[in-house]
Amino acid sequence: MEENRAIIKTNKVAGENMSRKRKQKKQRFLLIVTSVFILLLVLMVKSISGNSKQDLDSSQSSQDDINEQKEQSQSTNNNEISEIKVSPNICTTNTGAVINLNNFKVEAINKSGKKEELNNNILFSTDSDLLEIVNNTITVSDKALTADTATVTVNYKEYNSDITIKIFNDLASTIDENKVVTNPDSYDMVVNKSRNIPSSYIPDDLVPLDDIPKSLQNPEVNQLRKVAYDALKELFAAAKEEQSFDLYARSGYRSYNTQVSLYSSYVSNHGQEAADKFSARPGQSEHQTGLAMDITCPTMNYQLDTTFGDKEEGKWIAENAHKFGFIVRYPKGKEEITGYQYEPWHLRYVGPSLAEEIYKSQLTLEEYFEQFEQFEQ
Ligand SMILES: [Zn+2]
Repeated sequence: MEENRAIIKTNKVAGENMSRKRKQKKQRFLLIVTSVFILLLVLMVKSISGNSKQDLDSSQSSQDDINEQKEQSQSTNNNEISEIKVSPNICTTNTGAVINLNNFKVEAINKSGKKEELNNNILFSTDSDLLEIVNNTITVSDKALTADTATVTVNYKEYNSDITIKIFNDLASTIDENKVVTNPDSYDMVVNKSRNIPSSYIPDDLVPLDDIPKSLQNPEVNQLRKVAYDALKELFAAAKEEQSFDLYARSGYRSYNTQVSLYSSYVSNHGQEAADKFSARPGQSEHQTGLAMDITCPTMNYQLDTTFGDKEEGKWIAENAHKFGFIVRYPKGKEEITGYQYEPWHLRYVGPSLAEEIYKSQLTLEEYFEQFEQFEQ
C-alpha cells in the first residue's frame, strides 16, 4: 500500500515536474512566435511606409514630368505655325496686267496668335492658264476676261494660302477722248450710245455659220467671230436636245457700212428719234463686233419682235443662254440704261464667267461695270 502511495507520490512529483517543463516550453514557444510576429509586423509596416513614400515620391516626380512636358509642349506649340496668311488675298486687276509679288505680304501666325512676316522660302504657284508666274511677277493673260478669276497659291513649308485674282477691265480705261473703245477685239468690250467701235474695225476671225439653221441668205450677216459661233452652235444644240426647239440665226455680223445704210433707211422711214430706239447708229452697233446674234424660230415665223420673250423658246433662251457665254443684251425694263427697247432675240457673247454673273445679278452690261467700279472705290 505504502509503496503504492509512494509510487503514487513519486508519480505525483514526477507529474508536477513534467507539467512545469511543458509550461516553460509553451511560454518560450509563445515568446518566439510573438517576437517573430512583431518582427514581421515591424517589417511589414516599414515596407508599407517605405513603399508608400516611394509611391508618393514617384507619383510626385511623374506629376513633375507631366507638368514639365506640358510646359515644354505648350511652349513649342505656341511657337509652332498654325497657318500662313497673305494680304491682300483678293486682287482685282485687268487683262494683260503684270503684278509684282512683293505687293503681297505673307505672314506666319503661330498658335498663340503672334504674327511674323515671312520674306524667304515663299513659293507662289498657279494652276490657272490665265496667269503666268515668272521672276517674282504674275502676268495676266491677254485672254483673261472681266469676271474671270484665277487662284495663286502661296506656299511656305507645309503651309499654304490663296490669292484670288479677279479680272475687271474697267470702262474708263478702255475708251479714248473721242469716245471710241480701245478694246474692240475683247469679248468683254462694251459698245453703246456713248461708246463707239472704230469705223474701220472688222473682226479678223469671222467665220460663216455653216452648221446651224439660218433664216436669211445674206452671207455677211451669216457670220460671227469663231468663239461666238462655236458657243451658238452649242446653245442651239442644247435647245434642240433638251426641248426640241428649232432655233435660227437671223442676223449676226454687220459691217460699219451695212449699219450706215440700215440706219439711214430707218431714219427716212421712221424718223431719227424712233430709229434711235431700235437701231444703232453706225459705230454703235454690237453687230459690228461679230459677237452679237439676233435669233428667231419657226413659231415666230422667223421674224424678230418682243413676243419672242413670251414664247417657250424665248423663255428657255433667257434662262440658259448664259451657260454658253451669252447674255440677253437689252432686257425688259432696262431701256433707260441700255438706250434700246426690249430685244429678247438679241444675244451678245461676253464669255461664260461674265455671262453667268450678269445672269445671276440680273444687271445689264452697263450696270455690271458701273456697280463694280463703285464697289472698287
Ligand atoms: Zn441685234
